[in-house]
Amino acid sequence: MTTSETAKPCECSGYSLLVLVHENTEGDKVWQQTTTDCTATTKRTFAPGHDAKLKSLLIQARAGGHQVRRTTGTTVVDRDAARVAADLGWEDLTGAAPST
Ligand SMILES: [Zn+2]
Repeated sequence: MTTSETAKPCECSGYSLLVLVHENTEGDKVWQQTTTDCTATTKRTFAPGHDAKLKSLLIQARAGGHQVRRTTGTTVVDRDAARVAADLGWEDLTGAAPST
């Protein structure tokens, strides 16, 4: 068995949940960011059990109608939770709640 594969940050650590706290009179939006608090590394996509961590974050985002932010390197993308879940192949997650 080789150990040539290097561990990389767990996929779930790249996602965070954005909750709009308030928008002030100057139009500035203040967000509260929730992450999975993940510092694990893995040779697979997720550290063991961390797909469940990310799923629960997405379910929380979807239930509240919040945005999900994905950070990869220097790129940051804010997306709808349903689209993030679909991208990950978790359409069943989005199908659980009614969509408009
Ligand atoms: Zn993780």
